[in-house]
Amino acid sequence: MPFHQEQDIRYFAFENLAIPNAIFTRRGGVSPAPWQSLNVGGAVGDDLANVRENRLRSFAALRRDPASIHDVWLIHGTSVVHADAPRDLTEPPLKADILTTNNPAVTLFMRYADCVPIILHDPVKQAICIAHAGWLGTVRGVVSVAVEAMQNRYGSAPRDLRAAIGPSIGPDHYEIGPDVAGEIHKALGPRAHEVLNWRGEKHHLDLWAANHIQLEQAGVFQIEVAGVCTACHTDDWFSHRAEKGQTGRFGALVALA
Ligand SMILES: [Zn+2]
Repeated sequence: MPFHQEQDIRYFAFENLAIPNAIFTRRGGVSPAPWQSLNVGGAVGDDLANVRENRLRSFAALRRDPASIHDVWLIHGTSVVHADAPRDLTEPPLKADILTTNNPAVTLFMRYADCVPIILHDPVKQAICIAHAGWLGTVRGVVSVAVEAMQNRYGSAPRDLRAAIGPSIGPDHYEIGPDVAGEIHKALGPRAHEVLNWRGEKHHLDLWAANHIQLEQAGVFQIEVAGVCTACHTDDWFSHRAEKGQTGRFGALVALA
């Protein structure tokens, strides 16, 4: 079963990753509507004391030391931060959408509400990566950059990498305009038709398939896809689209041991 329950906290964990990992649902936190209840986003209007308590509960559910956190400020880009040590939370966060470490004392942490959580684990070189891929990050090739970063920093061979594509907005709910469809065509070329579906007058984008293709093109073939749509299940997930921007952010964490 990919879903786990730890007291009031419910989270999804990838079964093919033999390391501590969790994509937290919105259940089991302290935030009021519209952030109910396990919101870990600090820039969505929720009280920062709630955000802090929710983050502590999330780490406690996985028995991770809250001081082991390294997070980043997400900007839909392809900048990489190599987390050699935990981050002092009193310091301003670095801006990036790719975070890596080979230090077992570091817990990588990111926040989502429809964008795709992507985890990479190299069991040979003992290194991990977490990334954030919305349509813009996908067009910019965020997973290709993440794989390259693992190669350059840790000597990872792409064939050794295990990749996981987490809960995020699914192809059934992700309607896009012609401008975004055009960008996807530029990014994926002849394979764009595999990720763009017409529904009546509208294009729908399959971000899971797009990132799967880009991982394969980067030489990664061990890929697990959660196949869980955040917009279909707002009882479990924060969904920026389904809740028209009035929502929180759910957390995802990964660590080596
Ligand atoms: Zn859906």
